[in-house]
Amino acid sequence: MKSPLLTSIAALVIAVPAFAADEKPAATPEAKKPLGHQDSPIIPGTKWHVHDGERPQPPIVTPGEASTAEKVGTAPSDATVLFDGTDLSKWKMEKDGSDAKWKVEDGHMEVVPKSGYMMTKDEFGPDFQLHVEFATPNPPSGDSQGRGNSGVFLFGRYEIQVLDSYNNPTYPDGQATAIYGYMPPQVNASRPPGVWQTYDILVEGPRFTDGKLAKPMVVTVLHNGVVTQNHTALIGETPHLHVGEYHAHPEKGPIKLQDHGNPMRYRNIWIRDMHMPTPEDIGDGPKIGQ
Ligand code: MG
Repeated sequence: MKSPLLTSIAALVIAVPAFAADEKPAATPEAKKPLGHQDSPIIPGTKWHVHDGERPQPPIVTPGEASTAEKVGTAPSDATVLFDGTDLSKWKMEKDGSDAKWKVEDGHMEVVPKSGYMMTKDEFGPDFQLHVEFATPNPPSGDSQGRGNSGVFLFGRYEIQVLDSYNNPTYPDGQATAIYGYMPPQVNASRPPGVWQTYDILVEGPRFTDGKLAKPMVVTVLHNGVVTQNHTALIGETPHLHVGEYHAHPEKGPIKLQDHGNPMRYRNIWIRDMHMPTPEDIGDGPKIGQ
């Protein structure tokens, strides 16, 4: 005679495979479980609880592949690709708006010395993430500012210096990833001539009210993955031999690449909007960076 306990165990053993074979389990209490908490404290000044499951989910972005020595990388899914190695359709010459005249070959573009600066046809801002890869001429020629010089101009007017700074002394505020004429990089993370290098630039654009500066431009730069500018607030634009000043401009502007007379190479250039936390996100939290 079976005991009630054995009968129950037998029922369970039979029930489990039957449930698995059915493949249509009824909704369990776990499936309806909230993502977070609605009974935790409110984050001061916001409408959100700590761990609030109702808070909007961040959009999904498929990341790109990082470049390696052998293979060029790809952009994240929400980026605007400015140069993928095939053509200069996103670019024009700065001086007259004519078709871009730099050379494209083997998956990269190359500065044609004396042809002039190139700039994007589109404008970007106010806050964005910019990825740029470059290689300086190999073998190198010239020295100091004459060796492997170019530049990435944000809003067409603030230069993040591009230079062959590998065994090439120059004034510190003119080295690779310097805010030209103002802030030297924290470290020199340069690779040798001819080797591909990366800049990842986080830009918080300046804001102007009634033609006056309301919030300075703030820039963070990673050079080959190493932080060289950490939330650096710019003193102004980046002229040669002068202290930079701000001149009011729109919240969007072009990206510009410098022809400094050296046959620099660029590849894999992309840009994506960067959203700053809103006052509603921050509430009574620290206002640093706002
Ligand atoms: Mg330059």
